[in-house]
Amino acid sequence: MKPIPYGRQNITEEDIKAVVETLKSDFLTQGPKIAEFENAFASYVGSNYAVAVANGTAALHLCTLALGVSAGDKVITTPITFAASANCVRYCGGEVVFADINPETYLIDLNRVRQILREDTERKIKGIIPVDFAGRPIDMEVCRNLADEFGIWIIEDACHAPGGFLRNSQGKKVVCGNGIYSDLAIFSFHPVKHIAAGEGGMITTNNKKLYDKLILLRTHGITKSHDLLHENHGGWYYEMQELGFNYRLTDFQAALGNSQLQRADEGLKRRREIAQTYFDAFRGKAFIKRQSGVVPGHAYHLYIIEVDRRKELYDYLRSKQIFAQIHYIPLHLMPYYRKLGWKPGDFPNAENYYRNCLSLPIYPTLSSEEQDYVIDCIFEFYENSL
Ligand SMILES: *Cc1c(COP(=O)(O)O)cnc(C)c1O
Repeated sequence: MKPIPYGRQNITEEDIKAVVETLKSDFLTQGPKIAEFENAFASYVGSNYAVAVANGTAALHLCTLALGVSAGDKVITTPITFAASANCVRYCGGEVVFADINPETYLIDLNRVRQILREDTERKIKGIIPVDFAGRPIDMEVCRNLADEFGIWIIEDACHAPGGFLRNSQGKKVVCGNGIYSDLAIFSFHPVKHIAAGEGGMITTNNKKLYDKLILLRTHGITKSHDLLHENHGGWYYEMQELGFNYRLTDFQAALGNSQLQRADEGLKRRREIAQTYFDAFRGKAFIKRQSGVVPGHAYHLYIIEVDRRKELYDYLRSKQIFAQIHYIPLHLMPYYRKLGWKPGDFPNAENYYRNCLSLPIYPTLSSEEQDYVIDCIFEFYENSL
């Protein structure tokens, strides 16, 4: 049996062809493939606008910049996420406010968020970055109601959930990143995510003003757009109007991302099958404390089980060439965030979750045989150690 990682990319001949064609064309960076990818992605999630950028972290940074986060501003996010979800606030000099997770869904607890907002009498909290953790969509309708009530903005970190959806209170389908409720949403095209571009990211929004600002900030704050220029000295003339960055995506990465996007629904379907198989295999088993379960609209970036003797199981699986993972070590316990004042005990739900969680292999090319092997090894571990 060859090693089984928890996630991996799938590159087809079509993908390779798309990249090679772009390499032979006139544009290596930000050319026609960018607009193609942006348009296709916007229509995939159902947003008005999409902005392709260098990676998901750059996407988050541009979002906090565009929303004007500055020193003294506070922004709420979850401790159970990848570091970038919180770091983007720090890049702009803002302060992170963590809110504990709901132990059932692993998502940020919106009741806790409401309480934090109520206690923020000085109105320092400017926004919230909810995460569709593991691919499970957060209830954006509830987020929007909170945002409106307290006058804050929303950046949906949808890195785990391209193609994920929820139904709102009217039964209407709300696709992750479609911008109905969020101000901005972001995605990543790191190889372990659903759509791989090597590196890459996308911001989606329905807000034209924010869109224009993101376009400007993506390329140094420089524009050549006639209707935006303050002066015009001739054909060469451009203006740097804001302090931006170089967060462009290359054209060949966009070609790869776009080629992958064409198979996204297929991949999602396979991820949901794999999740169902795990769920059925583990249902009612004594060693399972909790499992992700089967949720409609879940995008299953991760399939998580909570188990007894997690570390031993993790090591045992490694000895069997199965590379399960832990998502995530609570962010507030990282040395960097501890230096800012957080400590063990601050978020009991997140810390309890971390003690027992394990992300099992899930990716579209995981074969049924490989999945059966993973399941068998887990049973073997608990049966042999009774
Ligand atoms: C991957 C990821 C990011 C960052 O994306 P990169 O493309 O790796 O910079 C941000 N948030 C979450 C939840 C992620 O999983």
